[in-house]
Amino acid sequence: MTPATRRGRRSPDVIVVGGGVTGTSIAWRLAQSGRRVLLLEQRGICSGASGRNGGMTGAGSSMHASAGAGRAVYALTTANLCALLSLPDELDTDFELRMTGTMDVITTDEQMAHLQTAVAAEREAGIAIELVDRDAAREIMPALTNDILGAAYAPDRGHLWPFALVTGIAAAAARHGAEIRTGTAISRLARSGDRVRGVVADGETIEADEVVLATNAWTPRLLPDLPRGAIVPARGQILVTQPLPPLLACPFGTNFDKEYGRQTPGGQILCGGYRRLDENEGLGTYREETTIPVLAGIARCLTDLFPDLRGKARVVRAWSGIMGFTADGLPLIGRYDSAPGLTVAAGFNGGGFSWGVVVGLVVARLLNGEEPGFDLDPFRPARFHDAAVTWANPFTAGEKNNPRAADALAGTA
Ligand SMILES: Cc1cc2nc3c(=O)[nH]c(=O)nc-3n(C[C@H](O)[C@H](O)[C@H](O)COP(=O)(O)OP(=O)(O)OC[C@H]3O[C@@H](n4cnc5c(N)ncnc54)[C@H](O)[C@@H]3O)c2cc1C
Repeated sequence: MTPATRRGRRSPDVIVVGGGVTGTSIAWRLAQSGRRVLLLEQRGICSGASGRNGGMTGAGSSMHASAGAGRAVYALTTANLCALLSLPDELDTDFELRMTGTMDVITTDEQMAHLQTAVAAEREAGIAIELVDRDAAREIMPALTNDILGAAYAPDRGHLWPFALVTGIAAAAARHGAEIRTGTAISRLARSGDRVRGVVADGETIEADEVVLATNAWTPRLLPDLPRGAIVPARGQILVTQPLPPLLACPFGTNFDKEYGRQTPGGQILCGGYRRLDENEGLGTYREETTIPVLAGIARCLTDLFPDLRGKARVVRAWSGIMGFTADGLPLIGRYDSAPGLTVAAGFNGGGFSWGVVVGLVVARLLNGEEPGFDLDPFRPARFHDAAVTWANPFTAGEKNNPRAADALAGTA
């Protein structure tokens, strides 16, 4: 008998580990469907990547367009976007969702060639996106430098306040009866044979019929049999200015999604990127630290693209966060074949806010024995067990989308 049952508490049906957008969303949908849910988070709700990101949201990335999984990615991320639109009412939370459109700004011929192909593939998958020339781009966002070649403009995308969304989802989960314990670090899964029976935290075994790992970058620590390099921690950094008059009409990305930014409804400009100036391109570290070369690169990106900011924008804050990058740039979503009782939803690379809400629905359906409603085959966690892991992550930070296998698969600090 576990200590929990000795004290007369009923075991949960499902333990969800991780209090980011993915874990809270899964806990919410499971609790909503009547399951007894325990959510365990080692720090606070939204303290991982979910609380440290840029807040841009949309239907997938142009970097998925050429991959065979593009259609499956766009189906899920489009559903995520639709679900987001009804969440302010459903959660009774204003998370500052603004559907302003987003713009992928093109500054080199290489980016132009990539986006010509990617936009065609995205349009074929039903996504509203178009290539616009320099003048049209500057009409939408007049503050842009004249020194661009054009842009890919997606009118149905936007941005949001991640902390308000995730804490809103957690509150909804609690209202539906989910128990949320923060400051509880899981040291390992509890197993009998291959089957996962619960988790171990602070020396206590907590049993459950099902365990879901929504632990993103930290997943390899709890899943020692996950092949090395399948999920790799990747540090991203962001700087924030003081509130400024409206300047950025919509969020922007540039350079193969490597740089990005937006202006919040309150006027602050957030900008991130330049991981290529970080030690080992930010790969392989769990240290949440900012570094001067990266922040200087981000500042240069902002003032190059928006010359009006030169000499006017003061940086008031900077932070870093750890993402879970995967060897093929796709998340792991589904039951973990080699361990009955275990489900994984992790490795959302640089775009978890285009996935988290719909992944909550999909995982709840899986655990309730229902059809997920989407093609999850490209996201099977077991795919990394099938063959040797080869690093082909399209978001790797080098100037080009060069595989960085040796670096990425190096040890973690
Ligand atoms: C700088 C930066 C900018 C980004 N910009 C964007 C953006 O603009 N748009 C976008 O969509 N995405 C962006 N992302 C990516 C996005 O933040 C992530 O994809 C998303 O937050 C993943 O959510 P998650 O819930 O899966 O993971 P996380 O939010 O990382 O949550 C995992 C949680 O698990 C907990 N945990 C881990 N191990 C344990 C354990 N052993 N016991 C208990 N708890 C544990 C962690 O503490 C953490 O809270 C960015 C990320 C960063 C860092």
